[in-house]
Amino acid sequence: MGQIRYRSAVSPVRRSFARPVELPDVDATVAALRPAEPLHCLRPAVLKATARRFVAAFTEAVGGDVLYAVKCNPDPAVLRALWKGGVRHFDCASPAEVRVVRSMFPEAVIHYMHPVKNRAAIRVAYRELGVRDFALDSVEELAKLREETGDARDLGLIVRLALPKGNATYDLSGKFGAAPDAAAGLLRRARALSPRIGVCFHVGSQCLTPDSYGDALRLAGGVIRASGVPVDVVDVGGGFPVSYPDMTPPPLDAYMEAIRAGIAGLGLPAGTRVWCEPGRALVAAGSSVVVQVEKRRGDELFVNDGVYGSLSDAGVPAFRFPCRLVRPAGTDTAPLMPFSFWGPTCDSADRMKGPFLLPADVREGDWIEIGQLGAYGATLRTEFNGFDQARLVEVADGPLLETPGHGVPARLPAK
Ligand SMILES: *Cc1c(COP(=O)(O)O)cnc(C)c1O
Repeated sequence: MGQIRYRSAVSPVRRSFARPVELPDVDATVAALRPAEPLHCLRPAVLKATARRFVAAFTEAVGGDVLYAVKCNPDPAVLRALWKGGVRHFDCASPAEVRVVRSMFPEAVIHYMHPVKNRAAIRVAYRELGVRDFALDSVEELAKLREETGDARDLGLIVRLALPKGNATYDLSGKFGAAPDAAAGLLRRARALSPRIGVCFHVGSQCLTPDSYGDALRLAGGVIRASGVPVDVVDVGGGFPVSYPDMTPPPLDAYMEAIRAGIAGLGLPAGTRVWCEPGRALVAAGSSVVVQVEKRRGDELFVNDGVYGSLSDAGVPAFRFPCRLVRPAGTDTAPLMPFSFWGPTCDSADRMKGPFLLPADVREGDWIEIGQLGAYGATLRTEFNGFDQARLVEVADGPLLETPGHGVPARLPAK
C-alpha cells in the first residue's frame, strides 16, 4: 500500500522553523548567516502597512470588507501581520486554509469562495469551522450546499460570474463562473433560500486596467437586474496589481475610484455590502528570497532556487522580478547587465529567462536578493529533486519595489 501524503496549507518554510530569526535587514542577515540554502526574508512591518493602507482605501471608497485571499500566502506570520494591519475577513478555498485562519483568529469572518467544493469540505467548513458564506456557479453546487448543510437557512450564497477574457496579466476567465442568464437564475433560486445572497467575480490577476472593475460591475448590474431580485453583497474579487520591473501599475486609488464609480452606477439599495478579495496586492512586497550563485556561464547564472521552489512565476509565466546583488557596500560597482537563471534541479524546465539585471561581475558564491515574492512564491514550493531546505527570517527593511499608492517606500527606484 502506498502512503497517503498530505501537503499542509502552511508554508513548508514554516514547518522547520517555528520561530523565525529577526534581523534588521537583508544585508546584515546574509553577512551573519552566509546562507547556502535559499533564504526567505519576510517583512511583517511591510505587510501590516500595506494591509492598513488597502483597508483604509477600500473603506473610504465603498465602506466595504477586505477579504484576504489566503492561497496567495498562507504563512501564519503573514496572516498575523495582515490581521495587525486590520484585515478581519479571509477568502479561503480549502478546509486546510479555513482551519489555519480559524485556529489563529477565532473571531475572523471566513468566506469559502471556491465555486466547486468537495462535499466533505462543505460539511467541515459549515459544521465545524463556522463558515457561512459560500461561492457557487451552478445549480449542482447549490444542491451540494443544501444537502451537506442540512438545508441550512443561514447560508450566504455568492454567485460567481463568468467574465469575458480581460487584459489582466494572469487571465482567470474560463475555469469558473456562470454566464449571465444562468447567474440570474441562480440568484433567484438563492434568494428563495437564503437571507444573504450576492455576486462575485475575478477580473484576472495583476490587472493593470482599473476600468476592468467598472466593466465587470456593469456586467454584474445587468445580471442583478435580469434576476429581478435584490442582492446583499457585491464582491469585486482580487486582481489588484503590484509593481514588477517592467510593470508599474496605476495607483491604488485609481482602482478604488473605478470601483466606487462602478458601484454607484448600479444604484444598489442602501445597506448592500461591497467586498473585495486581494491576494497579490497585500503580500507581494512582504517577502524576498536570497539565492546563491553556484555557477556562472556567460550571462546564465545557476542559482539555488528555481521554478520548483519559490520562483515558479519566473518560469513559464515569465514574470520579471526585481533583484540586486548582496555584497558589502561599495563592491558592487560594475554596470548592470541582463542575466537568465537556471534553478537547482536537473530539469531543463527549471529555467527563468528574466532578464535579471545584475552587476556584470557577478560570480559563483555571490548572493542575490529577488524581491516581490511574497505572493505565489514560497507557497508554491515543492520538494522535487530534494531541494526544499529554505530558511526563513524576518527583516525590518523595505521591499525592493514600491507600488504606487501603497504608501510603502522601496529601496530600489520604480522602473
Ligand atoms: C486567487 C484568488 C484571489 C486573489 O487574486 P489576486 O489576483 O492575487 O488578488 C481572489 N479571489 C479568488 C476567488 C481567487 O481564486
